[in-house]
Amino acid sequence: MGSSKGSRRPRRAAALALAGAALLAPAPGGDVRAQTRERPPEATVPLPPARPDALKPGPPPAAPGAAAREAPLPPERPTERTPTPPADPAPAASGTAEGKPGAMPVPPPLPPERPPELAGEAALALKVAAPDDTACRVRLKRLGVAFEPLPAIVNGQCGTPLPLRLTELGDGVGLPQSATLTCGAAEALARWATEVQVAAERELKQPLKTIAIGTSYECRGQNHDREAKLSEHAFANGIDVMGFTFTGRGPVPVGPMPEGSAEGRFLDAVRARACGVFRTVLGPGSNAEHGNHLHLDERERSAGHRLCQ
Ligand SMILES: [Zn+2]
Repeated sequence: MGSSKGSRRPRRAAALALAGAALLAPAPGGDVRAQTRERPPEATVPLPPARPDALKPGPPPAAPGAAAREAPLPPERPTERTPTPPADPAPAASGTAEGKPGAMPVPPPLPPERPPELAGEAALALKVAAPDDTACRVRLKRLGVAFEPLPAIVNGQCGTPLPLRLTELGDGVGLPQSATLTCGAAEALARWATEVQVAAERELKQPLKTIAIGTSYECRGQNHDREAKLSEHAFANGIDVMGFTFTGRGPVPVGPMPEGSAEGRFLDAVRARACGVFRTVLGPGSNAEHGNHLHLDERERSAGHRLCQ
Protein backbone atom coordinates (compact mmCIF):
# COMPACT_ATOMS: atom_id res chain seq x y z
CA MET A 1 0.00 0.00 0.00
CA GLY A 2 2.95 2.30 0.85
CA SER A 3 4.19 1.87 -2.70
CA SER A 4 0.88 3.17 -3.97
CA LYS A 5 1.18 6.43 -1.97
CA GLY A 6 4.76 6.85 -3.21
CA SER A 7 3.71 6.29 -6.74
CA ARG A 8 0.96 8.94 -6.59
CA ARG A 9 3.43 11.75 -5.80
CA PRO A 10 5.75 11.16 -8.80
CA ARG A 11 2.72 10.64 -11.01
CA ARG A 12 1.32 14.04 -9.94
CA ALA A 13 4.73 15.63 -10.80
CA ALA A 14 4.92 13.79 -14.04
CA ALA A 15 1.38 14.84 -14.77
CA LEU A 16 2.44 18.50 -14.66
CA ALA A 17 5.40 17.85 -16.97
CA LEU A 18 3.93 15.43 -19.47
CA ALA A 19 0.29 15.19 -20.14
CA GLY A 20 0.87 11.93 -21.95
CA ALA A 21 2.46 10.31 -18.82
CA ALA A 22 -0.44 11.58 -16.73
CA LEU A 23 -2.80 10.10 -19.28
CA LEU A 24 -0.98 6.75 -19.20
CA ALA A 25 -0.77 6.59 -15.37
CA PRO A 26 -4.39 7.36 -14.48
CA ALA A 27 -5.53 5.39 -17.46
CA PRO A 28 -5.12 1.94 -15.82
CA GLY A 29 -6.50 3.25 -12.50
CA GLY A 30 -9.30 5.03 -14.32
CA ASP A 31 -9.97 1.90 -16.36
CA VAL A 32 -10.27 -0.17 -13.22
CA ARG A 33 -12.56 2.40 -11.64
CA ALA A 34 -14.50 2.73 -14.90
CA GLN A 35 -14.73 -1.02 -15.18
CA THR A 36 -15.85 -1.35 -11.61
CA ARG A 37 -18.34 1.47 -12.17
CA GLU A 38 -19.40 -0.01 -15.46
CA ARG A 39 -19.51 -3.59 -14.17
CA PRO A 40 -22.25 -2.93 -11.61
CA PRO A 41 -24.66 -1.79 -14.35
CA GLU A 42 -23.48 -4.62 -16.61
CA ALA A 43 -23.87 -7.08 -13.80
CA THR A 44 -27.33 -5.81 -12.98
CA VAL A 45 -28.33 -6.05 -16.64
CA PRO A 46 -27.47 -9.76 -17.10
CA LEU A 47 -29.11 -10.65 -13.82
CA PRO A 48 -32.60 -9.54 -14.84
CA PRO A 49 -32.47 -11.61 -18.09
CA ALA A 50 -31.40 -14.63 -16.04
CA ARG A 51 -34.44 -14.15 -13.79
CA PRO A 52 -36.94 -14.05 -16.69
CA ASP A 53 -35.39 -17.28 -18.02
CA ALA A 54 -36.06 -18.91 -14.71
CA LEU A 55 -39.50 -17.32 -14.66
CA LYS A 56 -40.44 -18.58 -18.12
CA PRO A 57 -40.49 -22.29 -17.24
CA GLY A 58 -41.86 -21.61 -13.77
CA PRO A 59 -44.64 -19.02 -14.27
CA PRO A 60 -46.73 -20.82 -16.94
CA PRO A 61 -47.71 -23.63 -14.57
CA ALA A 62 -47.76 -21.34 -11.51
CA ALA A 63 -49.20 -17.83 -11.78
CA PRO A 64 -47.79 -16.54 -8.42
CA GLY A 65 -44.57 -14.45 -8.18
CA ALA A 66 -41.01 -15.28 -7.13
CA ALA A 67 -42.14 -17.20 -4.06
CA ALA A 68 -43.99 -19.71 -6.24
CA ARG A 69 -41.16 -20.03 -8.79
CA GLU A 70 -39.64 -23.04 -7.14
CA ALA A 71 -42.94 -24.32 -5.80
CA PRO A 72 -44.66 -25.30 -9.14
CA LEU A 73 -41.90 -27.67 -10.26
CA PRO A 74 -42.10 -30.08 -7.31
CA PRO A 75 -45.93 -30.35 -7.38
CA GLU A 76 -45.88 -31.34 -11.08
CA ARG A 77 -43.59 -34.29 -10.47
CA PRO A 78 -45.69 -35.75 -7.64
CA THR A 79 -48.81 -35.53 -9.84
CA GLU A 80 -47.06 -37.61 -12.53
CA ARG A 81 -45.89 -40.09 -9.97
CA THR A 82 -49.27 -40.39 -8.30
CA PRO A 83 -51.13 -41.66 -11.45
CA THR A 84 -48.59 -44.41 -12.09
CA PRO A 85 -48.98 -46.07 -8.66
CA PRO A 86 -52.80 -46.36 -9.04
CA ALA A 87 -52.32 -47.71 -12.61
CA ASP A 88 -50.27 -50.61 -11.23
CA PRO A 89 -52.84 -51.68 -8.65
CA ALA A 90 -55.60 -51.11 -11.25
CA PRO A 91 -54.92 -54.35 -13.20
CA ALA A 92 -55.40 -56.30 -10.01
CA ALA A 93 -58.90 -54.84 -9.61
CA SER A 94 -60.10 -54.66 -13.24
CA GLY A 95 -63.68 -53.82 -12.31
CA THR A 96 -62.83 -50.61 -10.49
CA ALA A 97 -60.21 -49.62 -13.10
CA GLU A 98 -62.72 -49.89 -15.99
CA GLY A 99 -65.33 -47.92 -14.11
CA LYS A 100 -63.08 -44.93 -13.30
CA PRO A 101 -61.51 -44.01 -16.70
CA GLY A 102 -63.74 -42.33 -19.30
CA ALA A 103 -62.37 -44.02 -22.45
CA MET A 104 -62.51 -47.56 -21.15
CA PRO A 105 -66.30 -47.85 -20.58
CA VAL A 106 -67.12 -46.79 -24.20
CA PRO A 107 -66.13 -50.01 -26.09
CA PRO A 108 -67.85 -52.47 -23.74
CA PRO A 109 -71.33 -50.82 -23.89
CA LEU A 110 -71.39 -50.73 -27.74
CA PRO A 111 -71.65 -54.51 -28.32
CA PRO A 112 -74.63 -54.86 -25.97
CA GLU A 113 -76.39 -51.90 -27.65
CA ARG A 114 -76.12 -53.33 -31.18
CA PRO A 115 -77.96 -56.63 -30.59
CA PRO A 116 -81.18 -54.94 -29.36
CA GLU A 117 -81.20 -52.62 -32.42
CA LEU A 118 -80.89 -55.52 -34.86
CA ALA A 119 -83.55 -57.62 -33.24
CA GLY A 120 -87.28 -57.39 -32.66
CA GLU A 121 -89.25 -54.20 -33.04
CA ALA A 122 -86.08 -52.10 -33.22
CA ALA A 123 -85.11 -53.83 -36.47
CA LEU A 124 -88.53 -53.13 -37.93
CA ALA A 125 -88.24 -49.51 -36.86
CA LEU A 126 -84.96 -49.21 -38.77
CA LYS A 127 -86.58 -50.57 -41.93
CA VAL A 128 -89.59 -48.30 -41.52
CA ALA A 129 -87.39 -45.27 -40.94
CA ALA A 130 -87.84 -43.48 -44.24
CA PRO A 131 -84.67 -42.53 -46.09
CA ASP A 132 -84.41 -39.17 -47.75
CA ASP A 133 -85.51 -39.69 -51.35
CA THR A 134 -85.53 -36.00 -52.23
CA ALA A 135 -82.40 -36.09 -54.39
CA CYS A 136 -83.45 -39.36 -56.01
CA ARG A 137 -86.86 -37.96 -56.96
CA VAL A 138 -85.23 -34.91 -58.48
CA ARG A 139 -83.15 -37.23 -60.65
CA LEU A 140 -86.26 -39.17 -61.65
CA LYS A 141 -87.89 -35.96 -62.86
CA ARG A 142 -84.79 -35.02 -64.81
CA LEU A 143 -84.89 -38.45 -66.45
CA GLY A 144 -88.46 -37.68 -67.53
CA VAL A 145 -90.08 -40.34 -65.32
CA ALA A 146 -93.80 -39.94 -64.57
CA PHE A 147 -94.45 -41.12 -61.03
CA GLU A 148 -96.51 -40.47 -57.93
CA PRO A 149 -95.68 -41.28 -54.32
CA LEU A 150 -97.65 -44.04 -52.62
CA PRO A 151 -98.31 -44.52 -48.89
CA ALA A 152 -95.83 -46.68 -47.03
CA ILE A 153 -96.30 -50.41 -47.55
CA VAL A 154 -96.25 -52.35 -44.29
CA ASN A 155 -97.06 -56.04 -44.58
CA GLY A 156 -95.30 -58.15 -41.99
CA GLN A 157 -91.68 -58.37 -43.05
CA CYS A 158 -92.55 -57.03 -46.50
CA GLY A 159 -92.95 -53.41 -47.45
CA THR A 160 -91.14 -50.18 -48.02
CA PRO A 161 -91.50 -46.72 -46.45
CA LEU A 162 -91.47 -44.63 -49.65
CA PRO A 163 -92.87 -46.53 -52.64
CA LEU A 164 -93.45 -44.81 -55.95
CA ARG A 165 -95.92 -45.70 -58.70
CA LEU A 166 -94.31 -45.34 -62.12
CA THR A 167 -96.46 -44.95 -65.24
CA GLU A 168 -93.91 -43.71 -67.75
CA LEU A 169 -90.16 -43.67 -68.16
CA GLY A 170 -88.08 -41.08 -69.94
CA ASP A 171 -88.21 -40.44 -73.68
CA GLY A 172 -91.91 -41.33 -73.81
CA VAL A 173 -91.41 -45.02 -72.97
CA GLY A 174 -94.64 -46.17 -71.35
CA LEU A 175 -95.28 -48.65 -68.56
CA PRO A 176 -98.81 -49.93 -69.36
CA GLN A 177 -98.94 -52.09 -66.24
CA SER A 178 -97.32 -49.40 -64.08
CA ALA A 179 -94.79 -50.40 -61.44
CA THR A 180 -94.48 -49.98 -57.68
CA LEU A 181 -90.84 -49.45 -56.81
CA THR A 182 -88.49 -47.73 -54.43
CA CYS A 183 -86.95 -44.59 -55.83
CA GLY A 184 -83.58 -46.29 -56.22
CA ALA A 185 -85.01 -49.17 -58.26
CA ALA A 186 -87.11 -46.73 -60.27
CA GLU A 187 -84.03 -44.70 -61.13
CA ALA A 188 -82.18 -47.83 -62.22
CA LEU A 189 -85.14 -48.81 -64.42
CA ALA A 190 -85.26 -45.36 -65.99
CA ARG A 191 -81.53 -45.34 -66.74
CA TRP A 192 -81.74 -48.84 -68.18
CA ALA A 193 -84.67 -47.80 -70.40
CA THR A 194 -82.42 -45.28 -72.13
CA GLU A 195 -80.04 -48.15 -72.94
CA VAL A 196 -82.97 -50.24 -74.21
CA GLN A 197 -83.98 -47.35 -76.46
CA VAL A 198 -80.50 -47.24 -77.98
CA ALA A 199 -80.47 -51.01 -78.54
CA ALA A 200 -83.93 -50.91 -80.16
CA GLU A 201 -82.90 -48.28 -82.68
CA ARG A 202 -79.61 -50.01 -83.40
CA GLU A 203 -80.77 -53.63 -83.66
CA LEU A 204 -84.43 -53.28 -84.64
CA LYS A 205 -84.41 -49.87 -86.36
CA GLN A 206 -87.49 -48.97 -84.35
CA PRO A 207 -88.05 -46.70 -81.38
CA LEU A 208 -89.04 -48.34 -78.10
CA LYS A 209 -92.67 -47.66 -77.17
CA THR A 210 -93.39 -49.55 -73.96
CA ILE A 211 -91.84 -51.97 -71.50
CA ALA A 212 -94.18 -54.74 -70.35
CA ILE A 213 -93.92 -55.25 -66.61
CA GLY A 214 -94.84 -58.51 -64.86
CA THR A 215 -94.28 -58.14 -61.14
CA SER A 216 -92.88 -55.21 -59.23
CA TYR A 217 -93.94 -55.15 -55.56
CA GLU A 218 -95.14 -58.50 -54.22
CA CYS A 219 -94.77 -59.96 -50.73
CA ARG A 220 -93.22 -63.34 -51.44
CA GLY A 221 -90.06 -65.40 -51.14
CA GLN A 222 -87.49 -65.83 -53.86
CA ASN A 223 -88.78 -67.90 -56.80
CA HIS A 224 -92.22 -67.97 -55.12
CA ASP A 225 -90.79 -70.28 -52.44
CA ARG A 226 -92.29 -69.53 -49.02
CA GLU A 227 -89.36 -71.20 -47.29
CA ALA A 228 -86.82 -69.18 -49.24
CA LYS A 229 -85.39 -65.80 -48.37
CA LEU A 230 -87.68 -62.88 -49.15
CA SER A 231 -87.44 -61.67 -52.74
CA GLU A 232 -86.50 -58.09 -53.49
CA HIS A 233 -90.04 -57.86 -54.86
CA ALA A 234 -91.14 -57.94 -51.21
CA PHE A 235 -89.39 -54.60 -50.69
CA ALA A 236 -90.47 -52.99 -53.97
CA ASN A 237 -86.81 -53.23 -54.92
CA GLY A 238 -87.16 -55.60 -57.88
CA ILE A 239 -89.04 -55.75 -61.18
CA ASP A 240 -89.82 -58.39 -63.79
CA VAL A 241 -89.66 -57.31 -67.43
CA MET A 242 -91.77 -59.48 -69.73
CA GLY A 243 -91.14 -57.84 -73.08
CA PHE A 244 -90.98 -54.71 -75.24
CA THR A 245 -93.22 -53.01 -77.77
CA PHE A 246 -92.20 -50.68 -80.58
CA THR A 247 -93.76 -48.04 -82.73
CA GLY A 248 -93.39 -49.67 -86.13
CA ARG A 249 -93.21 -53.41 -85.52
CA GLY A 250 -94.48 -56.28 -83.36
CA PRO A 251 -93.52 -56.79 -79.71
CA VAL A 252 -90.44 -58.69 -78.60
CA PRO A 253 -91.11 -60.89 -75.56
CA VAL A 254 -88.27 -62.00 -73.32
CA GLY A 255 -87.38 -65.58 -74.22
CA PRO A 256 -85.45 -67.72 -76.66
CA MET A 257 -84.97 -66.19 -80.11
CA PRO A 258 -83.63 -67.63 -83.37
CA GLU A 259 -79.86 -67.58 -83.36
CA GLY A 260 -78.45 -64.58 -85.21
CA SER A 261 -81.81 -62.79 -85.31
CA ALA A 262 -82.14 -59.05 -84.72
CA GLU A 263 -84.51 -59.79 -81.83
CA GLY A 264 -81.91 -62.09 -80.28
CA ARG A 265 -79.22 -59.44 -80.55
CA PHE A 266 -81.59 -56.86 -79.08
CA LEU A 267 -82.41 -59.06 -76.07
CA ASP A 268 -78.76 -59.90 -75.52
CA ALA A 269 -77.88 -56.22 -75.63
CA VAL A 270 -80.54 -55.06 -73.17
CA ARG A 271 -79.72 -57.90 -70.79
CA ALA A 272 -76.03 -57.06 -70.85
CA ARG A 273 -76.80 -53.40 -70.29
CA ALA A 274 -78.99 -54.28 -67.33
CA CYS A 275 -75.98 -55.81 -65.60
CA GLY A 276 -74.35 -52.39 -65.60
CA VAL A 277 -77.34 -50.72 -63.94
CA PHE A 278 -78.97 -53.28 -61.61
CA ARG A 279 -77.23 -55.29 -58.91
CA THR A 280 -79.12 -58.44 -59.87
CA VAL A 281 -80.04 -59.63 -63.37
CA LEU A 282 -81.63 -63.02 -63.99
CA GLY A 283 -83.32 -64.28 -67.15
CA PRO A 284 -83.71 -67.16 -69.57
CA GLY A 285 -80.99 -69.69 -68.84
CA SER A 286 -80.51 -68.60 -65.21
CA ASN A 287 -83.09 -71.10 -63.96
CA ALA A 288 -86.53 -72.42 -64.77
CA GLU A 289 -88.31 -69.58 -62.94
CA HIS A 290 -86.79 -66.90 -65.20
CA GLY A 291 -87.32 -68.49 -68.62
CA ASN A 292 -89.76 -65.83 -69.86
CA HIS A 293 -88.71 -62.59 -68.19
CA LEU A 294 -85.81 -60.55 -66.92
CA HIS A 295 -85.69 -60.20 -63.17
CA LEU A 296 -83.93 -56.94 -62.20
CA ASP A 297 -83.38 -55.80 -58.63
CA GLU A 298 -81.22 -53.63 -56.43
CA ARG A 299 -80.39 -56.11 -53.66
CA GLU A 300 -77.37 -54.92 -51.71
CA ARG A 301 -74.62 -57.46 -51.29
CA SER A 302 -71.40 -57.44 -49.28
CA ALA A 303 -68.44 -55.79 -50.99
CA GLY A 304 -70.74 -54.48 -53.73
CA HIS A 305 -70.99 -57.86 -55.47
CA ARG A 306 -73.44 -58.14 -58.37
CA LEU A 307 -75.30 -61.13 -59.69
CA CYS A 308 -75.46 -61.19 -63.47
CA GLN A 309 -76.60 -64.47 -65.00
ZN1 LIG B 1 -88.51 -61.16 -60.23
